[in-house]
Amino acid sequence: MTGFPSAFKGPHYRPGDADYENVKQIWNMRRGDHRPALIVQPLDTGDVVEAVKHANRNDLPIAVRSGGHGIDCAAMPHDALVVDLSRLKGISIDPGTGLTTVDAGVRLGEMDAATQQHGYVVPAGVVTDTGVAGLTLGGGIGHLTRRFGATVDNLRSVDVVTTDGRTLTASADSHPDLFWGLRGAGHNLAIATSFTFQAHRAGPEVMSGLLVYSADDAVPLVSGLDEVMARAPRTLSVALLALSAPPLPGLPPETIGTPVLVALIVYTGPLDEYETAMSGFRALATPLTDLVRPTTWLEANSIVDPFEPPGRRNHLLGGYFPELNAEIARIALARIAAAPASEGGLPSSLITLPILGGALFDHDENSTAFSRTGAAWLYEVSAHWDAPSADGKYSSWVESTMAAFAPYATKNCYVNLTADRGPDWLRGAYGSAAKWDRLVALKQTWDPENLLRYNKNIPSSGE
Ligand SMILES: Cc1cc2nc3c(=O)[nH]c(=O)nc-3n(C[C@H](O)[C@H](O)[C@H](O)COP(=O)(O)OP(=O)(O)OC[C@H]3O[C@@H](n4cnc5c(N)ncnc54)[C@H](O)[C@@H]3O)c2cc1C
Repeated sequence: MTGFPSAFKGPHYRPGDADYENVKQIWNMRRGDHRPALIVQPLDTGDVVEAVKHANRNDLPIAVRSGGHGIDCAAMPHDALVVDLSRLKGISIDPGTGLTTVDAGVRLGEMDAATQQHGYVVPAGVVTDTGVAGLTLGGGIGHLTRRFGATVDNLRSVDVVTTDGRTLTASADSHPDLFWGLRGAGHNLAIATSFTFQAHRAGPEVMSGLLVYSADDAVPLVSGLDEVMARAPRTLSVALLALSAPPLPGLPPETIGTPVLVALIVYTGPLDEYETAMSGFRALATPLTDLVRPTTWLEANSIVDPFEPPGRRNHLLGGYFPELNAEIARIALARIAAAPASEGGLPSSLITLPILGGALFDHDENSTAFSRTGAAWLYEVSAHWDAPSADGKYSSWVESTMAAFAPYATKNCYVNLTADRGPDWLRGAYGSAAKWDRLVALKQTWDPENLLRYNKNIPSSGE
C-alpha cells in the first residue's frame, strides 16, 4: 500500500514504525497478532476525505477506529487500511439548549465530563473509554436508557464522509433515510465524523453503587423485579450482575469467590425520593451488603470500569430478554459456578442484565435501524482472560451459557453488545424482514462496493 496522498495532514503508521504497536492497541487484544498495513490518523474531515479517496483509487476496503472498544476487534484488522479517528476530539455544548456536538474520536468519559460542566448528560454507555462513535452508530444503551431512551433516540444529526468521498449531514430533514440507517446500522453506511445530540439535565448528585445478594436471594429478587420496576420511576435504573463475589466491603468472608447476584443501582431523581423509589425493590430481598450512596454522575457512570480493563482477551455474546423469571436467575448462578477460574484478581466471567424498557419503548421499532422489540432487559455473557492457551476454555463457557439463555431471548438483539454470529443471525438481529430489506437497500445506495466491511456486515446484494 504505497503512495498515500501527500495532502493528508495527520500522522500515519506502518509495521516497523516506532509507535505502530502502541497505535494498534484496542480494548479486545484477542486478535493482537493482526497487523494492519497502514494506520492513518486524520486531523480533520478533509483528511478523512483524502483517506477515502485513496481507498477508492486503490480499491481498498477501509477499517474505521474510533474508541477501539468493539468486541469483534474490527478496528484493527490484519493487512487493512485503518482510518483511526481518535485525534478528532472536538466537543461543543450549547448551555441554553443542551445541544451537544462531539467529534468521532471522543470517548464516553470525555463527553460526560464536558456535558456535566453545564449540568447535562447525553444518554450513552457505562464504560468511560468506549467510543461515542461506534456506540452511537449501533444504538447506545446505559444507565439512562430507561429514562431517556437509547443514544440514537437523542441523536439529532450526524456529519459523515460517504464511501465515495463526499461530506454531508444526515438528519430528520437531510438524507432522512441515511439518518434512519445510521441510528443502529451506521458502521455499514458511512464514516461518521461528528454527532449532535440533545442532552438532558441530570446530575451532578445521584445515588449509585452496589447491592450484593446471596445466591439464595437471587431467585426471589429476579422473579419479582419486572413487577417492581414497572411501578418504579424511570429515574431508577438497575443492572444485575451474576459473578463470583470479589472482596467488597461488608461481604461475609465465606461469600468471597462464590456466585452472587449484584444489583448496580443508578438513581438520577431527587435524592430525597430515593428511598421511596427503592421501596418495591427492597421488599424483594435483603442484601448482604448495601454500598449505594450519594455520588456524582461521573462516579456513577464509571463504576463498571474496573470490571472491563482494556488490553485483555475477551469474548462477549448477548441479546434481549422480554421479561425475567426464576429460571433465568438459576441459570445465571449455575453458569457462574461452572465458569473457568478467575485470572488476574477480578472475576473473569460475568453475566450482566441491565434494565432497558421505559423510554426505549416510547419509540416505535421502525423509528430507527436499532432494534428494540421485546428489549425489556439486555443480557450479556462475557469472559476476560490473558493467556492465548485459554481461548477455548473461556469461549466455550460463553457459548454454552448463551445456549442456556436462548429459550428466553428474543430473536432481535443489540448488535453492539455481542460478537458477530454470522449472516443468518445478523438478518434477525435487526428485527423484521422488511427492516432487513431496507438496510440492504441502504447499503446498496451508500456503500455498494462494501468498502466498509469490517463490521457486522450487511451485504449490498441481499444475498
Ligand atoms: C467493555 C465494553 C463496555 C461496553 N459498554 C457498552 C454500553 O454500556 N452501552 C453500549 O451501548 N455499548 C457498550 N459497549 C459496546 C460498544 O457500544 C461497541 O463496542 C462500540 O462499537 C464501540 O465503539 P468504539 O468507537 O469504541 O469502537 P471501535 O472498535 O473503534 O469500532 C467498532 C465498530 O464501529 C465502526 N466504527 C467506529 N467508528 C466509526 C465511525 N466513526 N464511522 C463509521 N463506523 C465506525 C468500526 O468500523 C467497527 O466496526 C461496550 C463494549 C465494551 C467492550
